[in-house]
Amino acid sequence: MLGLYKVRSERNCSDYNNKSAQSLLNKLIRSNLVNTTNQVEVLQKDPSSPLYSVRSFEELHLKPQLLRGVYGMGFNRPSKIQETALPMMLAEPAQNLIAQSQSGTGKTAAFVLAMLSHVDPNLNHPQCLCVSPTYELALQTGKVIEQMGKHYPEVKLVYAIRGNKLPRGMKLEEQIVIGTPGTMLDWCSKFRFIDPKKIKVFVLDEADVMIATQGHQDQSIRIQRMLPKNCQMLLFSATFEESVWSFAQRIVPEPNIIKLKREEETLDTIKQYYVLCNSKEEKFQALCNIYGGITIAQAMIFCHTRKTAGWLAGELSREGHQVALLSGEMQVEQRAAVIERFRDGKEKVLVTTNVCARGIDVEQVSVVINFDLPVDREGNPDNETYLHRIGRTGRFGKRGLAINMVDSKMSMNILNRIQDHFSK
Ligand code: ADP
Repeated sequence: MLGLYKVRSERNCSDYNNKSAQSLLNKLIRSNLVNTTNQVEVLQKDPSSPLYSVRSFEELHLKPQLLRGVYGMGFNRPSKIQETALPMMLAEPAQNLIAQSQSGTGKTAAFVLAMLSHVDPNLNHPQCLCVSPTYELALQTGKVIEQMGKHYPEVKLVYAIRGNKLPRGMKLEEQIVIGTPGTMLDWCSKFRFIDPKKIKVFVLDEADVMIATQGHQDQSIRIQRMLPKNCQMLLFSATFEESVWSFAQRIVPEPNIIKLKREEETLDTIKQYYVLCNSKEEKFQALCNIYGGITIAQAMIFCHTRKTAGWLAGELSREGHQVALLSGEMQVEQRAAVIERFRDGKEKVLVTTNVCARGIDVEQVSVVINFDLPVDREGNPDNETYLHRIGRTGRFGKRGLAINMVDSKMSMNILNRIQDHFSK
C-alpha cells in the first residue's frame, strides 16, 4: 500500500500541503483518541424523541462478532462523539446524521461500525457506499473496516478507486464499497457495477476536504440522487464553515446534527517574548544562546519558507544539535515518520514551515519559536496562524512559552500589530 501512496505523491507535488494530505498525515500518525473535555451539541430532527447516549459498547447490542472486533482494536468505551452518534446511527428506522468534530475524535470508527452493523452478509450485492476525498484516505478507512470486521469475514469490501478496473457488465458482490466520488459515480451509473437502488447506508467522509476538490461536490450529489429515499445518509467533517454546511444539507435530508466543539485556543497560559536582532544570522546566534533552555522540553521552530527551514536545520546540526526537519517537499509518509520520531522524543527540536505543521497536535511541545513571524501573502500579520502555532504549547492547561525573533523594522511592526490584535 505504501507503494501506492508514492505513485500519487510523485504525480502531484502540490498535493502535499493541501487539506487531503494534511488529513492523511493526521491519520498516519494518530494512534489513539484526541483527549477532549468538550460537550457535544445535538440538534435532533425530531426534538420530541428521546435522546439516547451510551456509555458502553454493550448497550448498543452489537453483533457479537463486531463487539469482538471493537474490543480487539483496544476500544474500551465509546468516545465522546460516539456516545451520541452511535445510538442514532444504529437506530431503527435509520436516522440521518451530520456530524462534526476535529480529527481524531472517533468519527471513522463510528461510521465503520454503523456500516458493518447494517449490512446483511447473506445478500451478495453492495449495501453500503462510503466516499472519501482521496484514494489514500479511502484506503485508511478500508483498513479500519478490515480491522473491525476481522471476526465477520462474510462481509466483503471493495475499493472504487481509479485504477481498479473491472470487466464490463460485472455486478459487484461485496457488501461495502469504499472509494472516491468520481469512480463511485461511474460504477453506479456509467458501468452499473453497483445498483444504487439497493444501497442502505451512504457515508460521505471528510466533507470539508471533499469540497476543496473541484468536481467532488457535484459527483457526490449525483451519487446521492440515485439512492433510495430510505437510504441512511451520514456525513462527517472536521470543520464546519458555511460552504461545508450548505453542501451537507444537500447530501443529508432531515438530518440529526452533532457537533463537538474544539478546545478553545487561548493565549492565557502562554508567556510570550521577543528577541530583537538585525539579521538572519543574528537570529541564529540568539537561538543558539537560548538553545540549552528551550531543549529542557520539546520545541518547535517555525520559519517562513522551506529554504529558511532547511538552512536553519542545517546550521543547527552543524553546531552539533540534533534537530528534525519537517518540510513540504517530503512525501506524506516521510512527514508522518518525522512527526512520530519527534512525538516519541527522539528529537527535541522540530524545525518546520507553517503549512507543514498546521493541524498536527504534539502535546508535549512547550516552547514555540517563531524564527520568522507569520505573515500572509500580502505581508500582513497572520494572527490566526500565530494563535495556531503558539496555541499548541499551552494545551490542557499546561504552561507554554513563545519566543518571537524580530530582525527588522518591518517585522517589529508586524509584531506590534499581532500584539494589538490579541491585546497582549
Ligand atoms: P476521526 O475519524 O474523527 O479522525 P478515528 O475514528 O480515526 O477519528 O479515531 C482516532 C483514533 O482513535 C484511531 O486511532 C482510532 O482507532 C481510535 N479510536 C476510535 N474510537 C475509539 C474508542 N472508542 N476508544 C479508543 N480508541 C478509539
